[in-house]
Amino acid sequence: MSNLTRNIPAVQPRAVSRRRRARVVMPQTAGLVDFIPAARIEALLQRPPATPAELDAVLAKSLAKQRLELDEMAVLLSVTDPAQLERIFAAARELKKTVYGNRIVLFAPLYIGNKCINSCRFCGFRQENTTGSIRRTLKIEELRAELTALENKGHKRLILVFGEHPDYDPDFMAECVRTCYQTKVGHGEIRRVNINAAPLDVEGYRKLKAVGIGTYQIFQESYHRPTYASMCPKGPKSDFLWRLYGLDRAQEAGCDDVGIGALLGLYDWRFEALGLLAHTVHLEERFHVGPHTISFPRLKVASNVDIDRRWEVSDADFKRLIAILRLSVPYTGMILTARESPEVRRELIQFGCSQIDAGTRIELGGYSDAERQDQDLRREQFKIGDARPLDEVVAELLDAGEIPSYCTACYRRGRTGEHFMEFAIPGFIKRFCTPNALLTLKEYLVDYASPGTRVKGERLMAAELTKMPESEQKAELLTRIAAVERGDRDLFF
Ligand code: SAM
Ligand code: SF4
Repeated sequence: MSNLTRNIPAVQPRAVSRRRRARVVMPQTAGLVDFIPAARIEALLQRPPATPAELDAVLAKSLAKQRLELDEMAVLLSVTDPAQLERIFAAARELKKTVYGNRIVLFAPLYIGNKCINSCRFCGFRQENTTGSIRRTLKIEELRAELTALENKGHKRLILVFGEHPDYDPDFMAECVRTCYQTKVGHGEIRRVNINAAPLDVEGYRKLKAVGIGTYQIFQESYHRPTYASMCPKGPKSDFLWRLYGLDRAQEAGCDDVGIGALLGLYDWRFEALGLLAHTVHLEERFHVGPHTISFPRLKVASNVDIDRRWEVSDADFKRLIAILRLSVPYTGMILTARESPEVRRELIQFGCSQIDAGTRIELGGYSDAERQDQDLRREQFKIGDARPLDEVVAELLDAGEIPSYCTACYRRGRTGEHFMEFAIPGFIKRFCTPNALLTLKEYLVDYASPGTRVKGERLMAAELTKMPESEQKAELLTRIAAVERGDRDLFF
């Protein structure tokens, strides 16, 4: 190692413990108040189309990087006139550039177990799907094999996904997280582990905080209670308020990077957009920090799932939603997953998405099973639209002038939650995000890229460096890039 400081991972390895006895967390929701103002949202959706003056005012506020209020988002949602829609798309594109620059953060989902005691009507993992779902939970050795395969492709950031089942208690989840951080192959290592799973109690989140999780994601599925009740009719998940307050409890436990989401296709997407904003406002009011990320998965085909497609969201409306969310919550990361096809992702990333998964496999054990190419819905939660290899996605991003980033610096430097908001100010991207994106891209190019992708990547890096004015920081960045070329890893600002 050179004399440059090598940053120490936040999480130190510990021995993998033996499985403890599982426990089900029983929802305790007495006294909780539903903070989604459903009647007001329905009324806002009836408002007349925006006047040019109203649209001007709202776009100006967004471009000043201020979070919108519900009535302001409703102005954007009321727009159907093509010329006005174009203004919304242009503003979203511009805002994305000013807040996030031309970086796209890459991650991979890793399914740990698909046993589930819930009955979500849209999901292949629901407990009633006994004939159409092969149940499996990765053993620790199988998890290590998955991690080895992921690291050998170049992944550094994961989201672990679990069904809701007594076997998947916080101790088990913590053991999985520790295994992720401990498993290292060559230059490969996982530097950030996020989780998408059922809501926990405060004690459960504390256990995960202690092993160094990044974001805890819970999708509310639908903010419209009658829809929620019909879609999640049984099991712990049927308690709307337990789920709605799931991320409050995460915050109480000190997990200050939380991710919200709504499953699009269950109810009116415009209601869900306002629900996501109301959730954001609630978190800001209570914890002085909004969600770290927002997800907006569209409903996909799944094993033995046959639900009313009345609320299916068209590509055109999906584009509106993404642009409007971008404008409404300027500082929140937005995730566009591999549920979508390459064509849809290619087009929609520019309207505000900051993170995508790539090289995605959602079959249990799918990364280490190189033989299996086709999707088998009995082994997967739903059908994905983009199963391209990571290197191909990286190459396409480079062609489009985007910097694929594996940066994990903020979370490891403690720049999370409220603290992160303080840093999200002009100059932040130049000082931290772009240099860190380039350092992680350099690692990828040296360690994992195909020859063609490496050429594209080096070209983009040279162009980005040329754009940077000469400064002490640029000199330091060049020194660190050279150090990565020589074999140093994990250097960041
Ligand atoms: N079991 C945990 C829970 O329900 O919170 C983990 C979530 S699940 C494994 C991840 C997310 O996938 C769900 O919250 C839901 O929004 C989404 N999902 C489920 N079925 C889907 C489908 N058919 N198409 C697209 N997304 C789906
Ligand atoms: Fe279970 Fe989650 Fe699927 Fe619902 S969405 S059935 S809780 S895995």
